[in-house]
Amino acid sequence: MNSPTSQILMPLAMVLVTIMTIVLFAVHHANRQIPGLQSWARSYLCGLLLAIALLARHHAPEWLLPVVTAVLTFLATWLNVAATRAYTGRSPWQPAYLALALAIMLGLSIHLSWWQPNPTLRLALVFGVNGTLMLLSARAMFTAGMRLAPERYLFTLACGAQGLSVLAGSLILLIGHVDLSDSERFRTVFQYVVLSSIVMLVMRAFGVLMLANAHITAELRHFAERDPLTSIYNRRSFMTLLDKSVNLMQRMHSPLSLLGLDLDHFKRINDTWGHSSGDQALRHFVQLVSDHLRNEDVIGRIGGEEFIIFLPNTGLEAAAGVAERLRALIESQPVAGPHGPIALTVSIGVTLIARGETQEAALQRVDEAMYRAKAKGRNRVELA
Ligand code: GH3
Ligand code: MG
Ligand code: MG
Repeated sequence: MNSPTSQILMPLAMVLVTIMTIVLFAVHHANRQIPGLQSWARSYLCGLLLAIALLARHHAPEWLLPVVTAVLTFLATWLNVAATRAYTGRSPWQPAYLALALAIMLGLSIHLSWWQPNPTLRLALVFGVNGTLMLLSARAMFTAGMRLAPERYLFTLACGAQGLSVLAGSLILLIGHVDLSDSERFRTVFQYVVLSSIVMLVMRAFGVLMLANAHITAELRHFAERDPLTSIYNRRSFMTLLDKSVNLMQRMHSPLSLLGLDLDHFKRINDTWGHSSGDQALRHFVQLVSDHLRNEDVIGRIGGEEFIIFLPNTGLEAAAGVAERLRALIESQPVAGPHGPIALTVSIGVTLIARGETQEAALQRVDEAMYRAKAKGRNRVELA
């Protein structure tokens, strides 16, 4: 095992794992909200400890190494699965499973090192478990959806390739009856494992960094585009979407309608029940309306208690029908306030964007229709 190659490979692996562990902990430290990142950093820490154990093997009692390497490899790959499950929003595995799997792994390693020494079978077992866990990580990321998240490919590929390569190693050991007491053979297997591990470790670390970067970008986009109270589009992003939709609908000669909504006497809700009940009423209103709309309809919060909805492929008559249903829905579902139900009503203006018209003119018209609904007594729909 002390060939020049392994003398270079092991320190190289050690340096790379050290760098990657530090980078992952640093990224986690600055972005604690990213799910799974801490477990990924800990997974690399286990890899680092494993590299140290292998480098220091001549200074430790011989009986210790097999057990330590089996446990550290197991923990590193287990943490990788746990991190992937957390990142993709799955529930964590029961800690009892970890304890049971670790106990079995430890028991078998001790058995195959001390009582019935069989280094080939022991290594095949470590590889088998390691490879299976890596494939489970790849599967967890793959099934979480890849089409809209290309940043997931590298991580999935790295885990899948490492899983397959380690499982192949395990099979070769078992089927080929490789005798590891033959030092030449052992060196070949060892170098194959270390080399492929280095490549996959680097690939996977870049994969994790890409995942972290995608998470941060999505978060920033959410803050920039969404209203923090209700999570629907804010004024700026709504107007951008409306502009695109107006252009598209005009090119396709399809109708596009606008609804302007303003909650009635909202100031009274704040004054009577408090600002937090007012906030709750706003969230309640958005939830009811969003549940009622189609996927292609878009709602934005334009001001405090003012909203606009655009309805693609919808003429004036159909839009008036939607508006009337929304008005009745809001009236029929009061807000569940802390001191009892709070009645809520909405006044709605409706207009159709005419061909060649700018969106500013249509917005002005829908606003006027909405104010007419207010003037006529509120809780009603007016067409422009
Ligand atoms: P009208 O029927 O004429 O629309 O009466 P109104 O009371 O709804 O209208 P007005 O414009 O006088 O008051 C709107 C109120 O909405 C005033 C403001 O305090 C409240 N408001 C705006 N944004 C928020 C918010 O984010 N949370 C809460 N709780 N209240 C808000
Ligand atoms: Mg109002
Ligand atoms: Mg208002």
